[in-house]
Amino acid sequence: MMLPIMSECLFCRIIAGDIPSARVFEDEVCVAFNDISPQAPTHVLIVPKDHIDSLHTASTADRDTLGHLMLAAAEIARGKGFAEDGYRVVVNTNGDGGQTVFHLHVHLLGGRPFVFPPG
Ligand code: AMP
Ligand code: ZN
Repeated sequence: MMLPIMSECLFCRIIAGDIPSARVFEDEVCVAFNDISPQAPTHVLIVPKDHIDSLHTASTADRDTLGHLMLAAAEIARGKGFAEDGYRVVVNTNGDGGQTVFHLHVHLLGGRPFVFPPG
């Protein structure tokens, strides 16, 4: 009997619905859900439906997808009501960048002030 191929990627499994998440937005390109360990009153992860390991491995073929993720972040921020006050978008990349899940994602953080540079 053929068994379905189960992705080992956490975010691919969340996108597929195999692992539950609190979704706040979805369209044809991306899914956005609440971070399980929020670092701000709003902490949403915006992930492309097509797997990309990281910004480091993204290519020009991913240009539209990357732009789409940024505009989705801005749209969610407007919907949450803190866009005018301001917010932070972050793409942690590889080890020194603090990336722990190797499915590219944009963190959208809002609802409090942020300092720069981050730690
Ligand atoms: P990063 O460290 O930039 O790779 O971000 C990964 C993020 O995924 C972290 O902020 C985690 O809290 C978050 N995370 C890990 N597992 C889950 C999950 N099951 N649902 C939602 N967020 C998660
Ligand atoms: Zn994935």
